[in-house]
Amino acid sequence: MNFITAKDLSTKFSKKEVSSYDVTKKIFERISESKLNTYITTCKDLALEVAKEADKKFEENSSDITPLTGVPIMIKDNISTKDIETTAASKILKGYIPPFDATVVKQLNDAGAVILGKGNMDEFAMGSSNETSAYGPVLNPWDTNKVPGGSSGGAASAVAAGECFIALGSDTGGSIRQPASLCGVVGMKPTYGLVSRYGLIAFGSSLDQIGPITRSVEDCSNVLNIIAKQDSLDATSVNSPYEDFTEDIYKEIKGIKLGVPKEYITENIDSSVKANFIQSLEILSDLGANIEEISLPLTEYALAVYYIIAPSEASANLSRFDGIKYGLGVKKAKNSSEYMREVRGSGFGDEVKRRILIGTYALSSGYYDAYYKKAQQVRTLIIKEFNDAFKNFDALVTPTSPILAFDLESKNNNPLSMYMNDICTIPANIAGLPAISIPSGISKKLPIGLQFIGPQFGDKKILQIASNFERATDWHKLNPFNYD
Ligand code: GLN
Repeated sequence: MNFITAKDLSTKFSKKEVSSYDVTKKIFERISESKLNTYITTCKDLALEVAKEADKKFEENSSDITPLTGVPIMIKDNISTKDIETTAASKILKGYIPPFDATVVKQLNDAGAVILGKGNMDEFAMGSSNETSAYGPVLNPWDTNKVPGGSSGGAASAVAAGECFIALGSDTGGSIRQPASLCGVVGMKPTYGLVSRYGLIAFGSSLDQIGPITRSVEDCSNVLNIIAKQDSLDATSVNSPYEDFTEDIYKEIKGIKLGVPKEYITENIDSSVKANFIQSLEILSDLGANIEEISLPLTEYALAVYYIIAPSEASANLSRFDGIKYGLGVKKAKNSSEYMREVRGSGFGDEVKRRILIGTYALSSGYYDAYYKKAQQVRTLIIKEFNDAFKNFDALVTPTSPILAFDLESKNNNPLSMYMNDICTIPANIAGLPAISIPSGISKKLPIGLQFIGPQFGDKKILQIASNFERATDWHKLNPFNYD
């Protein structure tokens, strides 16, 4: 029961086979017994109340029922929830209770979803292993000696481990897709602007995007139907060109053109990931896709561009955490600058400090042109390179992560090796493109993911391709407890 899709759960609600109240209660039992550390905060009383309301709607066959009514959902802890502590997994925000809901939270509440609590994550979404959280690491349910990926590690681990049916994550350079890949679930970063960022604690504002982590492509499409709406509170949000993201998922993909950018298959790719990728291409080709290798030579600069732009934006965004308006404060300080130094020095973790230092340096006078401006220029070229590729291809297909889930603490002292995890996911953020990761296999009892990248607003197309692949395979039906 805990491992069925949200769609199947909703069908059971309609047939009155189970109630949202009972399912929600069971999930909380599971969470309280879990060692995975997926949640930073839970809100059981509120969730059970909402679940009861959902059950009433099903009893009355209300016209308000949506595919998410009564469905237990986790929200990553960098997404603001009114009256529920929101820390972005940082000590500096401990005790911060937002007085408002993020737009996506409001949309989920209006849809009748049951919010269980807040997902553990890397501090301020900076990381690829969930180990920078001030609230302890999250474990991978497939092997608890391994990381779940990050930064939405709590979200992916919880969906995989039956500790929620759906989670909302955020993706600045891969933080939805990489953990989804490492935990064997579906994760999508929509086109930049499609989902409101209002209430998302900003990391790199020109890269950040909220998106779903689910157990099926259809569930992912149903979440987008609810959250992909223009929002006057986010100036970068746009009107969705689509009414219904599920519309094409059952249409076949015969004749579709898929490009395989050869630069994504680097020397450092794990041999099992590579073998799996080749098998996945065969499946796509059997489904009728025309697959061709292409070259995107600027890919090699994407990581460098990201590690200038993301920290630069982060250094500006995180300047608001001064211990005055939110969260942590310190008792003794001689003057305001000492106060802020104390608060920021003790409130931020090492990775966050590293990003603030890099970003401040890149933006400082004398270096701005050499780093930030140059990175923005290369970003424009990367966008153009993608646009040119999409003149000939409907979508691109790549591995999501070059490696399988790795051992806890194995990369903590090597930031560069940690940053290399995102080599296949970062380019889509640089160019604002939609990208989805879906389960494509298992090696050494660990999941592998496959990524589809679409042109801007090609969200429906990549959902269609991903859904066809999903139906042709059984990988998404496996979970850490039924796989041997
Ligand atoms: N792992 C990348 C980083 O550390 C991406 C994080 C994200 O997408 N939020 O910045």
